[in-house]
Amino acid sequence: MQVIAATSEQPCIRCGDCAPVCPVNLQPQRLLLRLRDGDLAAMQREGALDCTQCGRCDVVCPSRIPLTQRYREAKALLDESARKRATALAARERYRARQLRLSRDEQAREERHTAQTANAASADAVAAAIARATARKAAQRGAPKA
Ligand code: SF4
Ligand code: SF4
Repeated sequence: MQVIAATSEQPCIRCGDCAPVCPVNLQPQRLLLRLRDGDLAAMQREGALDCTQCGRCDVVCPSRIPLTQRYREAKALLDESARKRATALAARERYRARQLRLSRDEQAREERHTAQTANAASADAVAAAIARATARKAAQRGAPKA
């Protein structure tokens, strides 16, 4: 069937002419549908990021759809979305690292406090033992000789 090319952009007639000319084996018609649905994830699955923007699909499209321009815009959206994801991921990672650092600092503080308490208790015990020994000696010195 011979398709007469339109002079201005027309709806996709699903002739399939765009697929065989794609050097990276994409399905430009399907990419277009996903783009119209606003489904960026599906576009990515269809390989939109592999599009080299060579323009071959534009040339053969009888409906004069500016496919390359659409894919360029879609790629920009995908890049932006990937950038936002990476930024969110980095922020989450920074938050997680900060929480970990705070938790380690808290644990170290608790350990220091426990050690200081143990040292103080041990110093008190030594002081008490010295006091008992001193009192014993004093008592012995003061006791009448038999
Ligand atoms: S512009 Fe993209 S989709 Fe179109 S033929 Fe080239 S690589 Fe394939
Ligand atoms: S060449 Fe154009 S009209 Fe034909 S399927 Fe591809 S996008 Fe649709």
